[in-house]
Amino acid sequence: MLTLSQEMIRIPSVYTHEAEIADFVYGRLSDWGFEPRKVPVPDHGPCIVAEHGDPASPSVVLNGHMDTVEVMSGWKHDPFGAEVEDGMLYGLGALDMKCGLAALMMTFRTLAGSDALRGRRVVFQAVPGEEDLGIGTRTLIREGVFRNAEAVIIGEGFGGLHVVTNARRGGSYYDFHVLGQSAHGATPHMGKNAAVDASRLVCALEQMNLSESEGLFSDALEPLKETQTVLSIHGGGISLSVPDRCVVNIVRCTIPGGRIDILPELEALVSRLSLECEVDIEFKDEPGDFYKPYLTDAEEPLVRSAVDSLTEVTGTKPTLACGVSEADDNIVAEETGLPVICMGPGETGDMARHHRPEEAITISQLPAALEAYLSTVRRLCEA
Ligand SMILES: [Zn+2]
Repeated sequence: MLTLSQEMIRIPSVYTHEAEIADFVYGRLSDWGFEPRKVPVPDHGPCIVAEHGDPASPSVVLNGHMDTVEVMSGWKHDPFGAEVEDGMLYGLGALDMKCGLAALMMTFRTLAGSDALRGRRVVFQAVPGEEDLGIGTRTLIREGVFRNAEAVIIGEGFGGLHVVTNARRGGSYYDFHVLGQSAHGATPHMGKNAAVDASRLVCALEQMNLSESEGLFSDALEPLKETQTVLSIHGGGISLSVPDRCVVNIVRCTIPGGRIDILPELEALVSRLSLECEVDIEFKDEPGDFYKPYLTDAEEPLVRSAVDSLTEVTGTKPTLACGVSEADDNIVAEETGLPVICMGPGETGDMARHHRPEEAITISQLPAALEAYLSTVRRLCEA
């Protein structure tokens, strides 16, 4: 497990550059006697898919992503060195998520060689572009690779082996288009300043009441809330003119069970402000601009199997958590309607260095993750 994780960390696979690691995963699965296939993804390395069992039987999907974010500043270890120091494995993707991917590969191999599946099928998917709007997983959904699936395990451990992520917030991206009236900058009273009204809007947005979920916890194990973030403001130019346009780009991270259609409350906010300018609100609906929150019921066999398995492996009952940032499980839940969870090796608190320098993982989690996956699938197949 450790060697396999190290081999993959040593292959740089910043998103859109996944071809080499895809070849590696393909080669290793072939060496193990499987017949993996490549599913092309535009502008990325391919997805690698391997299946075991009767194609007509219901399947359990094991999904992990091969890509990482870019190398950021602040690394002291070599981000592609995969060095082990004091029980920690350092490298870009150690948490996110090459160790999880290694554990899923080993799970697939072990299950295929056992009788644990009881007539079920297991499908292993290594995807590119998770950090790029989930394009790999979207491709596999479109290609029908989730057909006949009954449960999906994504091997990314937000919170490590003490957490099962069975829910995730959504994201609604929208723009305020503030339309004023230009005038000479020396006579501002002659115009309507879009930048000024946009600023009033931004301040009002910060004061909005956002809802809190009853009974759900974030993967940092804090009470789960909606959040709203101003991502950018663009308006005005360099000439001595009153800006007549300003665009404010915002994301609202929505919660399971909460309201998703937030347009009425935004319209009400705009009208309360009685701005001088016109304001148009534009919700975006391209892939990557809208994610629906999801919740896989705690009583689903998938969730119960995961909880019982982690309890057995770690000795502690894991917490059910809602991921705060959109990820591939949003896409799976929304597009396929299948029960889905994220679980796997990971860290909590300050050590949860996803997308941060000095990303590292406690190596003792690697065999534990494999045990937990095996036990989860076995229980699921017995259910
Ligand atoms: Zn990830």
